[in-house]
Amino acid sequence: MNTPSDTPSENASHDIMEEWDAFVKERYPQPADQDPTDFNPTDPDKKEKEFRNYEKTVRPSVRKFYEENHTKQTYDFVLGKKKEFTAFNRKEMGLWEAAEFLNTLVDDSDPDTNLSQLQHLLQTSEEIRKEGRPRWMILSGFIHDLGKILCLYGEPQWAVVGDTFPVGCTFSNKIVFPEFFGKNPDTKNPALNSRLGVYEEGCGLDKVNLSWGHDEYVYQIAKPYLPTEGLYMLRYHSFYPWHREGEYDYLCDETDRKMLKWVLDFNKYDLYTKSHTAPDPVALKPYYEDLIAEYFPAKLKW
Ligand code: FE
Ligand code: FE
Repeated sequence: MNTPSDTPSENASHDIMEEWDAFVKERYPQPADQDPTDFNPTDPDKKEKEFRNYEKTVRPSVRKFYEENHTKQTYDFVLGKKKEFTAFNRKEMGLWEAAEFLNTLVDDSDPDTNLSQLQHLLQTSEEIRKEGRPRWMILSGFIHDLGKILCLYGEPQWAVVGDTFPVGCTFSNKIVFPEFFGKNPDTKNPALNSRLGVYEEGCGLDKVNLSWGHDEYVYQIAKPYLPTEGLYMLRYHSFYPWHREGEYDYLCDETDRKMLKWVLDFNKYDLYTKSHTAPDPVALKPYYEDLIAEYFPAKLKW
């Protein structure tokens, strides 16, 4: 993902955002609770057995992305970014406007396999809508990746996307590429490198700092306006170590455990929705403007 003004050398650094999405889909080929006989992979032509062992086949650019992400997402880094971006002093815009702004990121990756950011949002939300799910859930689908506008503020991709994980306590070895945490300075700090670290048993995920990225940012924007279920979908949709690997239950409270099913419910729309026709933003805009107005003010501070 690159901004239009990026230099050729930055373009050559590749579109990790899209590659990460593709990588996650390969790694989690089907929802944990889905009947294998009812398997519906991302690519309609791809069979389950063809999904690969990620460590052996991952692209070098994706490996490098995770190495940087795991090395640099420290406890202090996360607290700093949270403080910086919850000042909400960068922009004022409505949600549709934010989606159009996000769409100014130019996708320079394989056009056969990737949709624009706006199309991904609409494809996710339209699938939720098609299945007659609640209106707040359709809206959650539409806004879930708006936090990726962090890229347009110049934030590096390792601080925008990637599977999220708690900082301030031991990194689970179920996190993808756990070996890269060896380079994270927090692993040398005994106060942070223990099972509980800075947290208390069962304290609840709201008290736990996850690695910084687009999930937490959009959650912070939407917090006053959406029901709890929708906020969980926004905030934890990349928290694969929790929702797909079952890790960190010891930090969860009862609300988190109740909400987990909603996060998984949402994950299938985010990861596995793939139709061969791209949604039409011009035709869909009036519907979404109405839906947005039902829950959100016309302008939000970003
Ligand atoms: Fe996302
Ligand atoms: Fe997404």
